[in-house]
Amino acid sequence: MLDLVVGGGTLVVPGTGSLRADVGIAEGRIVALGEDLGGTKATFDARGKAVLPGVVDPHVHLGNTLPFEEEAHTESRAAVIGGVTTVCVFLRRTDPYLKHLPEFRRAIDEASYVDAAFHLQIFTEEQLRELPACAEEHGVRSFKFYMSGIPGIVQSVSDAFLLEGFRQVTALGPDAVACVHAENASLVESARAELSRRKPQGTVADWEAAHPEEAEALAITTAAYLAGQTDAHLYVVHLSSRAGLDVVRRLKRDGVRVTVETTSPYLGLSSDDPNGFLLKMVPPIRSASNTQMLWGGLLDGSIDLVGTDNTSRTRATKQPEAGLHGARPGYAGLGTHLPALLHFGHHVRGTPLELLAERMCRTPARVFGLYPKKGTIAVGSDADLVVVDLALEREVQPEALGGMSDFSPFEGKRLRGWPVATIKGGRIVARDGTLVEDRPSGRYLPRRRPAP
Ligand SMILES: [Zn+2]
Repeated sequence: MLDLVVGGGTLVVPGTGSLRADVGIAEGRIVALGEDLGGTKATFDARGKAVLPGVVDPHVHLGNTLPFEEEAHTESRAAVIGGVTTVCVFLRRTDPYLKHLPEFRRAIDEASYVDAAFHLQIFTEEQLRELPACAEEHGVRSFKFYMSGIPGIVQSVSDAFLLEGFRQVTALGPDAVACVHAENASLVESARAELSRRKPQGTVADWEAAHPEEAEALAITTAAYLAGQTDAHLYVVHLSSRAGLDVVRRLKRDGVRVTVETTSPYLGLSSDDPNGFLLKMVPPIRSASNTQMLWGGLLDGSIDLVGTDNTSRTRATKQPEAGLHGARPGYAGLGTHLPALLHFGHHVRGTPLELLAERMCRTPARVFGLYPKKGTIAVGSDADLVVVDLALEREVQPEALGGMSDFSPFEGKRLRGWPVATIKGGRIVARDGTLVEDRPSGRYLPRRRPAP
């Protein structure tokens, strides 16, 4: 006897294509695909809908505004309502992680609606020394280095530190991932100073000048060289610019092992947007022609995957009225991630759903060691699914997204293509934009070094 059958929908299976089939679920997993699957306790009618794997967001920050355990609750609620069922969370400490990892894990296990893996952001030698223990005891296998910090939030690391960091990550095994925030710190610093002198006031379009494309292109070049010297698996987070994209295209042509991520706000928005400083981010959301270039990169595989860089804020801490230099970077992105890609990708640009599912479900799961448990629709995989009404059009209203943020960079936009149900671990947890039951069932996902 099955627990649930999701019936009559069109499955979007990354790497396979779209097919009409029912999904049979028992004990939280997919156990059958096909027709006439037999007896079931419950059925979800997905006729006329697309059924995608639950979305895996490789790039989420929690705890920037409220305490970590509170955002683990509120922001995962926005995630699951929006069709995201797994998140990879960047943890940030400047003291050793080992003694804090149990409490981070507990916050996920007790408060989160979605499953979560962790990336550690590494700033100190002391943290570098504990990498093997974090991997061994807590299943953390991805780490992030800021080549350029964010003033008042995080510090930069030197190239020498990056080189040593890459060595330590490589030593953990071939599946370990070295993520970089790729901007050259000195270019950003001088560009910011120059912009303050030249433009004490301005628009969000002017913000791009504080984080020039060259800074991204140069940092990717440096990181790729150091990764080559150390055999590290380099992962470029939030690629934002045409110049950066040119560099990764060249690297990939040369056979360099680099995985490249961009974000749904970079793909859905541009700096001429009427929402102004609500879009302020590091790196910046750039011009409309730049956004179009990023879509080209996503289509041709230069960009491998898409995350959100969710950094939830309230309007009060965002301070859009403080303008070009005073407004703070960051915004919530989980609730709009899937609708933005369906709208701007599938509807506006004709991007095939299979390709979107590859970039937002399967590739993130693969890169971070969660596949095929996550990221696909297959027998044996976790029963994490999102049922989408591609024709449903709705205006983005921040308060309807389910998170703690009272604004969205997408607010006021009419997007077409929204989730109508999210199934996580075999249970229908969200429906038509609201939770079905207020019972967080997320679990921390430790990762294991694969057998050689
Ligand atoms: Zn980030």
